[in-house]
Amino acid sequence: MYRIRISWGCNSNCSYCGIKKAIGFHKSKSLEQVVEEFGRGLNNGYNHFVLNADDIGAYGIDIRSSFSEMLDKLTNNHADYKISIANLSPRWLIRYIDDLEEIFKRQKITRLGVPIQSGSSRILKLMNRYHDTKKIKEALLRLKTAFPKLSLHTHIIVGFPSETDEDFKKTLFFIKKCNFNAGQINPFSRKTGAEAESIEPKIPEDEINKRMNYAKKFLKKAGYNVMYKSKVYGLLFDKMDSNI
Ligand code: SF4
Repeated sequence: MYRIRISWGCNSNCSYCGIKKAIGFHKSKSLEQVVEEFGRGLNNGYNHFVLNADDIGAYGIDIRSSFSEMLDKLTNNHADYKISIANLSPRWLIRYIDDLEEIFKRQKITRLGVPIQSGSSRILKLMNRYHDTKKIKEALLRLKTAFPKLSLHTHIIVGFPSETDEDFKKTLFFIKKCNFNAGQINPFSRKTGAEAESIEPKIPEDEINKRMNYAKKFLKKAGYNVMYKSKVYGLLFDKMDSNI
């Protein structure tokens, strides 16, 4: 597996996240450098590439390029290889969905991570994230339908401040509806200085644990293998057919 870090930092402002404070604003590697690293990997016999970044979909916005231009360059090659994309935020998925559908036809991108974090628009608004859940769902289902072999992954936070039982269940039904191949569910964790610290009411730990246990049963019933990792790393779930 050959990893290419394509950028650092983030211009978004998710209310639970400390990355921006720790790493700063988004900064892309040049397109030439990304293409050159990719070529080096191919020449050295690698056939699985993993693209990562703090906010991967923001690639290019600071260098007059774009995420889709970069993907276009990396998939326009007849060699036998596959590419995994980690953590494409829904706002970028929506912006680039037409381009992605075209690029995915080349069958080079086999794994896509889209961290939805919650299936409730109200909670997503409080998280300062893209919050049109209908559009997110439509975009994910569009990719799933066009590319049934695409391995779709996600990341969820349970117990974000003020999350109701109804918000939480919307998230579980979102996972089921989009038929994700795999994902991770983490209990909300407080970060000093993060905006979410000021959102009330906080969800008590025993209620978060109850929701994590419910999620485990729900996902098992929906056909997932579910593994509890730890309080920090939460639950991992995947389907037998998942191409992780
Ligand atoms: S997009 Fe990711 S890195 Fe950026 S603020 Fe949100 S969670 Fe943090």
